[in-house]
Amino acid sequence: MEVRSNVGYPRRGVTVTESPYWNPKTETLDRERLDALQLTKLRRQCEWAAVRSPWYRRRFAEERFEPTQLRSLEDLRRIPPLTRDDWMASQEAKPPYGEIPVAGGEAAIRVHTTSGTTGRGPLRALDSRKDWAWIAEMWCYGIWGCGIRPLDTAYIAFGYGSFIGFWGLHYAMEKVGVLNVPGGAQSTEARVLQIVDFAATVVAATPTYALRLAQEAEQLGVDLRGSTVTRLILSGEPAGSIPQTKALIEELWGAKAFDTAGMTEIGTIMVFECAYQPGGTHIIEDHVIEEVLDPVTLEPVPVGERGERVVTSFGRGTTPLLRYRTGDLVCRVPASTCGCGRGFDIYEGGILGRVDDMKVIRGTNVYPRAIEAIVREFPEVEEFQTVISHEGIRDEVTLRAELKAGASERAWGQLSAALHRRLAHAHEGLNFRIERAAPGELPRFELKAKRMIDLRSAPAAPVTSPATPAPAATTP
Ligand SMILES: [Zn+2]
Repeated sequence: MEVRSNVGYPRRGVTVTESPYWNPKTETLDRERLDALQLTKLRRQCEWAAVRSPWYRRRFAEERFEPTQLRSLEDLRRIPPLTRDDWMASQEAKPPYGEIPVAGGEAAIRVHTTSGTTGRGPLRALDSRKDWAWIAEMWCYGIWGCGIRPLDTAYIAFGYGSFIGFWGLHYAMEKVGVLNVPGGAQSTEARVLQIVDFAATVVAATPTYALRLAQEAEQLGVDLRGSTVTRLILSGEPAGSIPQTKALIEELWGAKAFDTAGMTEIGTIMVFECAYQPGGTHIIEDHVIEEVLDPVTLEPVPVGERGERVVTSFGRGTTPLLRYRTGDLVCRVPASTCGCGRGFDIYEGGILGRVDDMKVIRGTNVYPRAIEAIVREFPEVEEFQTVISHEGIRDEVTLRAELKAGASERAWGQLSAALHRRLAHAHEGLNFRIERAAPGELPRFELKAKRMIDLRSAPAAPVTSPATPAPAATTP
């Protein structure tokens, strides 16, 4: 029997014929039909933006672009790209929301902001009731696709603040019929205890915070591996797709971890990992177009090569997003590399980092992702930080590692030697200094961990801030 949609799935009913896909119709379209669907939706979204958004109307006129020029998906490239700076400049010129939105606050029901970790102030994004329905729908693809069902109980370890984070996931859980435990305004200890008390089967957290919860559980003597939790939904950081980090999370929780990625600028996720865990994330291609471009030339890169993701969303009406340059580094491969039967292409390895993440130290390229992958091979490291500095005439790189409580000097000696060797081996022999940090000295993060500090570009930045243990986190 063909299942058309899983909406309205009974919360505590008898099992009905059930599809592994949230939207069986679109998730299994072949490329030709998917392209046709995207083109129709793209035209409609461009017409909407041209008529209703002052910013797009002006930009389209400047570039002599009209939505009627969209005759095939190739014509997408006629649409001028949108950058974060464009958005910010518009916000500054016409505060508080700028002219990208099709209406002001009066037409919306909520405003969210980016977490503001990258320099200039946060972006502000407006959403209507209809937008929120779409935001939840997008998350449904992910949570249903990894096997979450109405009988699950989800613990959402998230601050529920102005950062959009897991808000959409919360509504998606409700839409599917999952029992939600909103874990806002709680200490990490209280969250661990609530996960156990409510017998949560699903936990949503950033990868960093999933590790933090596991550390806390260990200190409290709570056995997460023996708990009811079977799945973790990870989001908010590229670390969720680093195999070593994911393996460590799965090991500590005795559960499967599924990577997703989204951004405040589209309000929701645009990729998710299916139950097959193909080592990457499916792009929700009936709701977004994802291009992978060379960040310098803006030409498309071949399939299987790294480039910057540029996103066009069809679903957010109040704040249209057409060809938005995300700065995320990705590598797109065909849908057929996964065995789940979806027609949606895959970002191999998820979001690989940021285009501008790379640091050059004495001629060697250093990526935060590569360092994290090595450090996570050593589960005795509780937290770490990479510090790049300029001393005398040359650049130095130091890995500061904080060990689990009770680690001996001898264990540290072996560990630091192994870390030194592994890091050098992965970086053309580059000499990493390895330093032991005191217990609790390094910053802890709830979302968007920042573990690489480049003192060459910001000489006054503090290396650690023990007084404020979670500088990038929302109020827990
Ligand atoms: Zn799949």
